[in-house]
Amino acid sequence: MRPIVHIPKSVLSTPARRVITFDKKLQQLIADMKETLLAAKNPKGVGLAAPQVGAALQLFLTKPSAKDDIRVFINPEIIHMEQEDPKEKKLEHLEGCLSIPNIWGDVKRAPTLTIHYQDEHGAAHEETMTGFLATIIQHETDHINGILFTQRVLEQKNKLYQNAKDDNGKEILEEIVI
Ligand code: ZN
Repeated sequence: MRPIVHIPKSVLSTPARRVITFDKKLQQLIADMKETLLAAKNPKGVGLAAPQVGAALQLFLTKPSAKDDIRVFINPEIIHMEQEDPKEKKLEHLEGCLSIPNIWGDVKRAPTLTIHYQDEHGAAHEETMTGFLATIIQHETDHINGILFTQRVLEQKNKLYQNAKDDNGKEILEEIVI
């Protein structure tokens, strides 16, 4: 397991390097990241990118739900993103990030994408994804490129929220006024 790096560490805002050698060191990093992702409880981890544990490499993990296995994506490249249908309802979801504790925001993501990536052994794959997995892939690919979800929230002129407590001590989300 490795400690999670928080903002404003520069590794989170720097584009990561391509993975060239699929050696023992890389396998150890992947094993450590899997432990770190499984241990993340607040918020529960659904994805983890290598820069979030301080490793500036193009590598991330996904785990959309408790029943899903952890998947490994290396040197990911989104080669196609479906443009949104203007007649459709906005596909906005509240996102959070293990590297930005207690902050939330609505981000609109493409509903479908095609990604080219390598697995932990270096084999190349191409796959089309939809739904929550597609959202996670876009969030994690942004990490690989040094982009945080808060930047997407601001670009889309959406609102940011923080965890707070109301007068009765109940957990609520409070809008952050910038
Ligand atoms: Zn994140």
